[in-house]
Amino acid sequence: MFESEKSKMIKDHLIGRGIRDARVLKAMSSVPREKFVRERDKLISYADTPLSIGWGQTISQPYIVAYMLEVLDIEKENRVLEIGTGSGYEAAILSRLAKEVVTVEIVEELYKDGKRKLENLGYENIEVVSGDGYRGYKKKAPYDRIILSAAPTDIPENLVDQLAAKGKLIAPVGGIFQELILLEKDEFGKISKKRLLPVRFVPMVRE
Ligand code: SAH
Repeated sequence: MFESEKSKMIKDHLIGRGIRDARVLKAMSSVPREKFVRERDKLISYADTPLSIGWGQTISQPYIVAYMLEVLDIEKENRVLEIGTGSGYEAAILSRLAKEVVTVEIVEELYKDGKRKLENLGYENIEVVSGDGYRGYKKKAPYDRIILSAAPTDIPENLVDQLAAKGKLIAPVGGIFQELILLEKDEFGKISKKRLLPVRFVPMVRE
């Protein structure tokens, strides 16, 4: 029922704005965004905007999700950590790109809903964890890729520690003004950072 809206979103908002990575486009074509928004928003689920999911949180805008995933360059055998499960939409996309996904959510209700939804939709390589993303999730570390969908004022040290050698981490960083930052760790553990673009995400809260 939403197939034509979905292809239009991919064509106009993703390809139309420069997303080229076939892996990302394919993964985003396979995930039904309408299943991750609230009932009343179903008809606008493929608009290129963030939408409220309750608890003051939003499901991220498709273009920004695609942009971040393209920059992250996720490989099929990667283990990925996401901070901020929210609706579960991005976790579902990540699960199509990587071997294994761990996603951490701090709001208990969103954690429960997200976990149930992802299970019901049959995504099997995702572990949904209830907890504070500032701590990361040591049990499954190190991660080849880490993605934050809420903005800390500085990149949390624990997450940098849990990033594998040759790993990449992408995060919106800042307060009122935020920038998307790509942090890379080389094979010797040396860190480099690149500033990508100004963005606006919900703040990463503390427990
Ligand atoms: N990726 C989500 C976007 C959710 S918005 C999606 O596709 O829908 C950001 C999410 O980060 C919110 O659900 C919020 O509750 C969560 N969050 C904020 N601070 C956090 C923290 N310290 N640890 C874990 N999750 C956090």
